[in-house]
Amino acid sequence: MTILQENLLLVPGPTNLSARVREAMAEPQMSHVGSEFYESFTEIVKLARYAFRNENGIQFVFTGSGTVGMESAVVSTVCRGDRVLVVDTGYFGRRLTLINQAHGAKVDELLYPDGAHATPEDLRKKLSENKYKAVFMTHVETATSVRNAIGDLVKECRNAGVFSVVDSVCGLGGEPLDFDRLGADIVFTCSQKAIAAPPGAALLATSKEIQDYFGKRQDPIESYYMNLLRWKPVMDDPKIYLATPAVQVLRAVRVALMELKEEGLEARWARHHQLGEMVRKRVTELGLPLVADQGFRADTTTAFRVKNGTSAAIQKTLEQKHHIVVARGISEDRDRIIRLGHFGILTLDTLSRALDSLASVVEDVGAVDRATVGVPTLH
Ligand code: PMP
Repeated sequence: MTILQENLLLVPGPTNLSARVREAMAEPQMSHVGSEFYESFTEIVKLARYAFRNENGIQFVFTGSGTVGMESAVVSTVCRGDRVLVVDTGYFGRRLTLINQAHGAKVDELLYPDGAHATPEDLRKKLSENKYKAVFMTHVETATSVRNAIGDLVKECRNAGVFSVVDSVCGLGGEPLDFDRLGADIVFTCSQKAIAAPPGAALLATSKEIQDYFGKRQDPIESYYMNLLRWKPVMDDPKIYLATPAVQVLRAVRVALMELKEEGLEARWARHHQLGEMVRKRVTELGLPLVADQGFRADTTTAFRVKNGTSAAIQKTLEQKHHIVVARGISEDRDRIIRLGHFGILTLDTLSRALDSLASVVEDVGAVDRATVGVPTLH
């Protein structure tokens, strides 16, 4: 297939790559044994610490998508029969439940309708009713673009003496997050979202407490690869072989993390906030209701409602006429939700032009429907 014109990716991952990141992938194939890899990997772990603001905990980077990060966190934490709580604010909360169940955990859910955010009061109540091994929660729910107040939620877990695990796949690098100050036991993300690298690397930070527990748990961790006990020594000494890393992806991750550091984490958060504000303003002006609760809207991604049945036409027209790729709702919301990812290297200028295109397509396909305002759906 010949690509005539490059698409602008406005999907919630994977995202657009900088020229330097692309060039890094085109460099000669690197071996995972040898000083070039060892040095480069050591630097990646250091840069990942910067992106997570993780000086005190353990830092992981290994090959896999975000789901590998999720499953590593789950399988390393739970033993069969353990009772856990999942704060389910959407599709990816539900995935946390499914992964926990796959590993034999008994899952209670703190379930919210699509667009709603989790509250510390609800969590406190749940935590007072049962003793849980761990609480799993999503920072930015990519299906609805709700940004949960993870600081408040993690605090409740700490007060109750329960491990807290945060999926920040759609947050880290674009939304303020400070691992050391947050006090969570595990935070994970992956390479293809706000870090702006290609898919293929899972990045996690763990607290010393949970890492100690991994070493002491009664039943062994029921995974060879997705095992945070096994990966830890590799992070300290990349000469240890556990599995062949996706070396070209890691080349790109290194450069993407360097670019993140060059910009500076706080400047990057501020830019993402401007991107988020621009999308929310422009989409709202078009008469398209945002899915997420006010005050809990992510800066990295935005989901909005369109007239039922028009999302496919919007997606197709934007790609064919404007070379812009957007996502539709996940699962049963496919036909009435459009999701935009606005993170990574995206500039305000590029976003503004893309939103002009969106406006013209919305008009062309007649996607505004005021009847969709405020219709909450349970996922
Ligand atoms: N969690 C969240 C919040 C996500 O948005 C995604 C991916 N969209 C995942 C987990 C899973 O990541 P991956 O598709 O890379 O496995």
